[in-house]
Amino acid sequence: MQMYRGLFRKPKNTLEKRDGTADRSRPKIADDAYLKCPDCDQVLYSQDVKDHMDVCPECGHHFKMSVRRRLDLIVDPGTFTELDYEAMAPEGRESKKSNPIGFPGYEQKLSAAKKRSGEEEGVFCGLGKIGGWETGIFIMDPDFMMGSMGTAVGERITCLFEYALKKRLPVVGYTVSGGARMQEGILSLMQMAKVSGAVKRHSDAGLLYVVVLTDPTTGGVTASFAMEGDIILAEPKALIGFAGPRVIEQTILQKLPEGFQRAELLLEKGFVDDIVDRKRQKSYLKNLLELHSGKITI
Ligand SMILES: [Zn+2]
Repeated sequence: MQMYRGLFRKPKNTLEKRDGTADRSRPKIADDAYLKCPDCDQVLYSQDVKDHMDVCPECGHHFKMSVRRRLDLIVDPGTFTELDYEAMAPEGRESKKSNPIGFPGYEQKLSAAKKRSGEEEGVFCGLGKIGGWETGIFIMDPDFMMGSMGTAVGERITCLFEYALKKRLPVVGYTVSGGARMQEGILSLMQMAKVSGAVKRHSDAGLLYVVVLTDPTTGGVTASFAMEGDIILAEPKALIGFAGPRVIEQTILQKLPEGFQRAELLLEKGFVDDIVDRKRQKSYLKNLLELHSGKITI
């Protein structure tokens, strides 16, 4: 064996010095300059993905998108105004409660989420125009505790529906959520009923609510306002469900079928009305708003 020693040794890189220290003058590539697509495994140039509305140019995988980028994608430039939640919430319904059940470490988690996302809470609501149509808009934030629904999220969305009802405006909402925020216990689950009530009053007045489900939309959000839209759209391959597939698999001890809880299967089974990729979303929403405005004749 002695004679084979060194046969497979790595050849010396000419950029390496004899003492083994690397040449530090080589240009460095920023860590975030490239990313790998989880669907097609292609290594992609981040700027390319950004230029394609955060969609993989190779296979069409829809990456998570920040609230501000979504706003830019669907709202007419310069038309968006965020709701003044504090001024709108009626007495006794505060939209800010830092730690309502005294959950250990929650304040620190909240401030880390604020820092990471640059937002104050897990949803962003306001009024803006989509293709010229005045609309109430809410967009959930995947970077803020995975869009989890706590009292502030519930209150903000409720305020939006109440305001839209008063002004007789349609609502377009984008959901992304890991479910109810466990750090707020039962209070977060109560948001399901509160928002649903506001959606119902808005609906009873004959007003349109379109919801776009993005990856992932799960838990209490799916069990309430994500499924209450008059028209329910989804992004391609979005995971949509109540309990996650891993939890179900471990509970029933069975392998789940291919595509389980994905938007395509849900479309086939009638849970969603259409799958719309990002490139078509603004024009699709504009057409829906126009058709339901009662202001056009066909
Ligand atoms: Zn891809």
